[in-house]
Amino acid sequence: MKKPLLSLVVPFYNEEETIDQFFPRVQMALEAIAAVDYEIVCVNDGSRDRTLLKLIECARGDARIHVVELSRNFGKEAALTAGLNEALGDVVIPFDADLQDPPEMIAEMVAKWQEGFDVVVARRADRASDTFMKRFSAAAFYRMHNMLSEVKIPENVGDFRLMSREVVDALKMLPESRRFMKGLFSWVGFRTATISYTRESRVAGKTKFSAWKLWNFALEGLTSFGTLPLRVWSYLGVVVALFSLVYASYLVIRTIVLGIDVPGYASIITAILFLGGVQLIGIGIVGEYVGRIYMESKHRPVYLVRARFRAGERRS
Ligand code: UDP
Ligand code: MG
Repeated sequence: MKKPLLSLVVPFYNEEETIDQFFPRVQMALEAIAAVDYEIVCVNDGSRDRTLLKLIECARGDARIHVVELSRNFGKEAALTAGLNEALGDVVIPFDADLQDPPEMIAEMVAKWQEGFDVVVARRADRASDTFMKRFSAAAFYRMHNMLSEVKIPENVGDFRLMSREVVDALKMLPESRRFMKGLFSWVGFRTATISYTRESRVAGKTKFSAWKLWNFALEGLTSFGTLPLRVWSYLGVVVALFSLVYASYLVIRTIVLGIDVPGYASIITAILFLGGVQLIGIGIVGEYVGRIYMESKHRPVYLVRARFRAGERRS
C-alpha cells in the first residue's frame, strides 16, 4: 500500500548560511516518520545570494526535493502561497528555513493527523529566544488584532502547522491577492489540535523582518480581516456631534441670558485642531482600505515562477 505523502513547504530568502544545516536535520527527522513519504518544496523567494545554487546542489539526485524559483522577492506570504500551490502532499506543513521550529516535532503532528484532526498547530510555549521588544509587540499585536477583527488568530502560533489536503484546497480557493496567511489559516477553520513547543533561535543568518516590516504586516492583518477600524469613525462622529449639540445649546442659551461675550479663542482653536486631527486619522484609515481595494481590483497573480527544478534538474 502507498503511504500518504507529506509536503514540507519552505520559503527561502537569502538563506545560504542555513541550507547546509537544513537538509541533513530535516531529512533525518522526516525519514524517522514511518507512516509517510515526504517531499520538500523549496521556494526561492528571489534571493540575492547563492541560495538557489545551494538548493539545486542539495537536491541533486534526490527526487523528493523540488525547487520553485520565483521571478523576484515577493515576500514570505506569497512564497508560502506558491509552495502550497506546488505541494502535492496529503498533508502539508509550512516550515521556516532557519530551523527555528524543530523538525523533530513533525512526527507528533502526523500522529495527531492520524487521530483525525485536519489541522495541527504548534504553539510557542515561551518566547525566550525573542528580544523583549519582539515579545512585547507580538503580545500587543495579538491583543489588538483579536479585539478588532472578526477572525481571531490564536496567540503565539506561527505558520508552522500541519494541514490536511482538504484544508490546503480550501486555502487555495480564497481569491484575495494580498495574503495574510495567519488570518487565512484561521478563517478556513477545520478541526484543529494544538501542541506546544519551544522556539529556538535561528541556526544562522539574520531575521528578514525589520520592525517597520512587522508594523506593516500588523496593519495588513488588521485591515484584511475586518472593517471595525472603518466603522469606529461613524460612532466617533455621532458622539462628537451629540456633544457639539449640547455645547451649542448651552452657548446659545448663555448668550441670550447673559449677552454676547467675545473671548473664546482658546476653545475655538482647540476644537479646530482636535477635530482636524481626528478627521485626518479617519481619512487615513479610509485610504488604507481604498488602497487595499485598489490592489485587489488589479487581479494580479500573487507570484510569478521563473523556473522549477526537481532533483536538481530544470523542469520548466
Ligand atoms: N522569507 C521569505 N521571503 C521574505 C522574507 C522571509 O521567503 O521576503 C522566509 C525566510 O527565508 C524564512 C522565513 O521566511 O525561511 C521566516 O523568515 P525569518 O526567519 O526571517 O522570520 P522570523 O523568524 O524572524 O519571524
Ligand atoms: Mg525565523
